[in-house]
Amino acid sequence: MKLKLVNKNSPEDLVSETGKAVPPSGIREFFDLVYSTPDCISLGVGEPDFTTPWRISDTGIYAIRDGQTHYTPNRGLPELCEYIAVYLKNKQGLDFDPSRDIIITMGVSQGLDLALRSIINPGDEIIIFEPCYVSYTANVMLLHGKPVVVPTSAENGFKIDFELLKKSVTGKTKAILLSYPSNPTGASIDEKTLRKIAALAVEKNLIIISDEIYSSLCYEGGHFSIASIPEARDRVIYLNGFSKSHAMTGWRLGYVAAPKYLTDIMLKIHQYIALCASSIAQYAAIEALKKGDRDVEAMRYEYHKRRNFITSRFNEIGLPCNLPQGAFYVFPDISPSGLSSRDFAIGLLQKEKVAVVPGTAFGKSGEGHIRCSYATSMDNIREAMSRIEKYVKGTCHS
Ligand code: PLP
Repeated sequence: MKLKLVNKNSPEDLVSETGKAVPPSGIREFFDLVYSTPDCISLGVGEPDFTTPWRISDTGIYAIRDGQTHYTPNRGLPELCEYIAVYLKNKQGLDFDPSRDIIITMGVSQGLDLALRSIINPGDEIIIFEPCYVSYTANVMLLHGKPVVVPTSAENGFKIDFELLKKSVTGKTKAILLSYPSNPTGASIDEKTLRKIAALAVEKNLIIISDEIYSSLCYEGGHFSIASIPEARDRVIYLNGFSKSHAMTGWRLGYVAAPKYLTDIMLKIHQYIALCASSIAQYAAIEALKKGDRDVEAMRYEYHKRRNFITSRFNEIGLPCNLPQGAFYVFPDISPSGLSSRDFAIGLLQKEKVAVVPGTAFGKSGEGHIRCSYATSMDNIREAMSRIEKYVKGTCHS
């Protein structure tokens, strides 16, 4: 006899409330539209248009041929941790012990997750500056933390308003999450403000998570890291990686550097969740740190030229655009068009086949802006800007 199984509940009822509550990424949502628009020029992507420099790729290929295809220590290859410690010392004056303070992760994405997991208890507040990278709010929510948004605006170059920050700190604040130079605005944080933030963190006993993934792509002056401030050093979780600096997004490699009381927790979590980052990518990253400086510099030089061009074109067209200090994004003000960010981006895609990301994908304070990535060829940027000019003239005067 056949047994008939009946259950009036649906298995769909079983998915997690947290999973349901997290909003989909505004970028992904928009790119579904882009994929259905063939032949469009994309200023939407958030990754280098360069392929990984050949010497780095070759080292990865050699690692495979050489049989380096096994798990590495959980923390990562000791040699890579050592190269990272030397790199951070030489480039940013940071002091991290490679055997204790550094963990190799699957991109900064996993570094960020580990950082948040190591500090958040349910209900803890994490201060985030908007507009910001799409993952920040979602990652905090996934861990049952509460993102507390401090807006920044184009009028003051997307700088942090320190007074507003101070007012946002409550008894439940656990950490301040910084990102500089920023995705999507390209704005950095000056040393004076970082020192004030460090002092605030000490006074209120807060952790600082510092996402410095674009630190090697600064165009004026160098990059100053909050982790180099001695008073704050025991409360900073420093995040960086190889995706943007060495055009290695697909290799999925990053690292966290933090005091031992934090890396001890992160390493436990990392062991259970990932075991270790890719061995092959780690060997390639050693080569990147040994011999990749010239490649990084060549890419930075190209981005710098493109940044100057695209910024001046936006201003010429009548869409005010701050000169970003770093990364490879501009975040022009599209309000003269009279359209919302989303309508502007959809119209531009449909009429002129240029893909940009609506500023609202990076939080409510991104309204009135679009994010354009200049990680694409100068020819593409030139053509895209001509089309945007045509679109703006048509839109504003119709
Ligand atoms: N942090 C910021 C500010 C980013 O823009 C990105 C990627 O766009 C990431 C982290 C994630 O980088 P990764 O490829 O290292 O995971």
